[in-house]
Amino acid sequence: MRTLTIRDLPDSAYRGRRVLVRVDYNVPLEDGRVADDTRIQATLPTLRYLTERGARVILVSHLGRPKGRWDEAYSLRPVAARLSELLGAEARFVPDVVGAEARAAAEALRDGDVLLLENVRFLPGEETNEREVAEGLAALADVYVNDAFGAAHRAHASTAAVAEVMRQEGRPAVAGLLMERELTMLGKALESPERPFVAIIGGAKISGKIDVIENLLPRVDSLLVGGAMANTFFRALGLQTGRSLVEEDRVELARQLLERAGEKLVLPVDCVVSGEAKPGARTWLLDRDSVPPEGMILDIGPKTVATFREYVDRARTVLWNGPMGMAEIEEFSHGTVGVARALADATARGATTIVGGGDSVAAVQEAGLADRMTHVSTGGGASLEFLEGRTLPGVAVLDRSDDA
Ligand code: ADP
Ligand code: MG
Repeated sequence: MRTLTIRDLPDSAYRGRRVLVRVDYNVPLEDGRVADDTRIQATLPTLRYLTERGARVILVSHLGRPKGRWDEAYSLRPVAARLSELLGAEARFVPDVVGAEARAAAEALRDGDVLLLENVRFLPGEETNEREVAEGLAALADVYVNDAFGAAHRAHASTAAVAEVMRQEGRPAVAGLLMERELTMLGKALESPERPFVAIIGGAKISGKIDVIENLLPRVDSLLVGGAMANTFFRALGLQTGRSLVEEDRVELARQLLERAGEKLVLPVDCVVSGEAKPGARTWLLDRDSVPPEGMILDIGPKTVATFREYVDRARTVLWNGPMGMAEIEEFSHGTVGVARALADATARGATTIVGGGDSVAAVQEAGLADRMTHVSTGGGASLEFLEGRTLPGVAVLDRSDDA
């Protein structure tokens, strides 16, 4: 079963029609301006596709967590300003979501126009997936498009119920181009990766990613583990980890995983150790069996980076989630940057490289290597849930076809 996308509908579905597009414009604001427009840029292909075909585009998004109350601090108005600059044409804004003002603004649209509604989380029924909100949104348009991969793991009125209402009324509910790309890239890695397929998992907590590890283990050729997550595995091996972050109640689970995974699971052999997790801290490079009681493991060491690189160099598909250390501090960022470079080189020689997860993506961007990856996922939580093998509610409700 394949999720239908805007490319599956005929052009006649768009000309002169109102198309409601759920986007993820949950961007950082500073002094009433958009501080990082990556997420807005990511939707431009979908918006261009629709406006070029004469659609009247109505955008709906959330921003932050206003908790169902009207709060100017979370207004999407600054986003409309930035979107207008990027489109080279005015994106209108209406300070309403499903009320009379929004309906009037939607009806006033001409072919190729773009309208941004106010923050949908100003409505108490959005996060509770209420039918009333969904009906209000559905009433604005003839076609529904979900291009908000980053919000697809939530069953909210603008991601789930609205698509159900549209479909019940015989109107299309399809994926946008950004959503399509995310589903294709992550889906292919899980279902039919070119081999060798290497996954690299890091970050802080085993508990948060155990389902990802369980789902990936049978699919990958090698699973490389870094970050604080490796510490819990070290303990399972009987190693001393000093004052490092360890999930004590997951040590037994880590031991079982090691047993089950055998050679497939690759742990760091050396680490960057410090007495304090702060900038300017003094650091030591130590083998994993030499961590002193007062030390904290805060990054993988250079021998491990070299080993991980060997796996990446041989791979045809590499999937990475979670930094190799406390990468937000320069002293502990070298392992993460080293792995990012290895992936960039792999991309250059034709391998498929995919990076997902909020902090990993931030680290790759910070290293200036984001555009050297095949795919950088825009959805942190959503990509994790997808990699766990779960069906995303915002995807499950879209139209499907039986072809492959
Ligand atoms: P992502 O957002 O990419 O999924 P996570 O949120 O799981 O990644 O993990 C990122 C966090 O893990 C960062 O805050 C980083 O500081 C922390 N981290 C990684 N390695 C270590 C470590 N060795 N010790 C302490 N914290 C770590
Ligand atoms: Mg994170």
